[in-house]
Amino acid sequence: MSDDVIIALATGYSPTGAIAIIRISGEGCIRKVNPFVSINLLKAHDHTIHFCNIYDSGREVIDEILISVFYKNHSYTKEESLEISCHNSRYIITTIINTLIANGMRLSSPGEFTRRAFSNGRMDLSQAEAVADMIAAKSKAAHDIALTQMRGVFSQKIKTIKERILSVATQLEIDNDFSEEDISLSPRNNIITIIQDVLNDVDNMLHRFSHGEVIRHGLPVAIIGRPNVGKSSLLNVLLEEERAIVSPLAGTTRDTIEAEVNIDDISCRFIDTAGIRDDYADDIEKAGIERTKKTIAKAQMVLFMVDVTMTGEDYKEQLEAIRRQNKDLLIVVNKMDLDTTYKISEEAIYISTKNKSNIDAIKEYITKKYNMHNDEIFVNARHVEVFKNIKTALAKTINAFEEGISSEFIMSEINNIILSLNTITGETSSQETLDNIFSRFCVGK
Ligand code: GDP
Repeated sequence: MSDDVIIALATGYSPTGAIAIIRISGEGCIRKVNPFVSINLLKAHDHTIHFCNIYDSGREVIDEILISVFYKNHSYTKEESLEISCHNSRYIITTIINTLIANGMRLSSPGEFTRRAFSNGRMDLSQAEAVADMIAAKSKAAHDIALTQMRGVFSQKIKTIKERILSVATQLEIDNDFSEEDISLSPRNNIITIIQDVLNDVDNMLHRFSHGEVIRHGLPVAIIGRPNVGKSSLLNVLLEEERAIVSPLAGTTRDTIEAEVNIDDISCRFIDTAGIRDDYADDIEKAGIERTKKTIAKAQMVLFMVDVTMTGEDYKEQLEAIRRQNKDLLIVVNKMDLDTTYKISEEAIYISTKNKSNIDAIKEYITKKYNMHNDEIFVNARHVEVFKNIKTALAKTINAFEEGISSEFIMSEINNIILSLNTITGETSSQETLDNIFSRFCVGK
């Protein structure tokens, strides 16, 4: 597969950019491009950039370009590679790519450059996944997670877990060799402690998964409340203060308004059921309940809003229904300018969107709740499945020890754990898993 030379536009076509970068990788690519440029690329040194013309098959100049040269083992893919910086015109880009495809290259499939980097041992699978996360990151926190993972901190973590499990396997083999003799309890207890430690580590990472998802993909917040409590007003205040660009988001229906606001490092997607208004009055209860349910289902956090004119009768039932959904819940009381003494609970945040007072408390609540520690590692959806299997196997192992089940059984569980850990780093991932991961990349990455 890596014998052939692949080519793709790496910058993604944008009608406004000035420069586009075309990436080429594969054995012999320098020789293949050489006839189409006005310099002798065969003499170019590693890691050098050259200004020259590029020609089409009829020797017509297509553009003036900069071409960067990377020798084998010194490039992103670890293969001989080239990068062409040309002017960003659709005509120029397609003519260059088509010319080279007609002369022995092929268009890369999505993520193929990164897949080659992975296959050639430049990075492991979790690092390759981080490349995609890095490109998708919309906030500093999301970027930080991706960068930590790309630099191999996560891989290192997996490595230490593996080492601990392997030390257990070694210990068990020693035990087996002496199986005739009675094995003292202390190594067994020691083994159980190691496994329990790993189990705790795995558990912690699973627990923080949804937290990581919030940082990676944003926090969907449903703003729920009766008409006229001030939901739209709050959204407007937040948008105004954060100077967010309000654009209708994909999936926005006529009945909901969705808006993205970056609060500190968290990209919050507020979903407001603002469409439920007085002109729907007749079926408002019925339709409202259905829509509200759907909105809540989509959210990680529910911002439940009441105003100071409401009594418990007005909101208690709905609030209880929301509590049962097990979402992160924030109660906000609006219109405090009308009644400064109003109180429903300690945990609520009291605001006035009219005076723009205490809006910061909402922001602080969100940033505090979804903060992250330095260099914290977050598992992604693929890792979660693997970690769940590992967790089960670890629990079974501890159980087996406690019940005195044979070492063979324990060894087979331990082998399962090692195999699962290898699928995270990609040492034993199936073709299907790899196809799945890399197909999510864009062409040229
Ligand atoms: P929604 O139906 O929940 O989206 O509510 P709106 O944001 O449209 O607000 C309903 C009404 O309440 C409007 O007339 C607002 O001007 C008013 N309102 C919103 N926030 C406040 C507030 O903090 N204080 C007062 N006094 N009125 C408010």
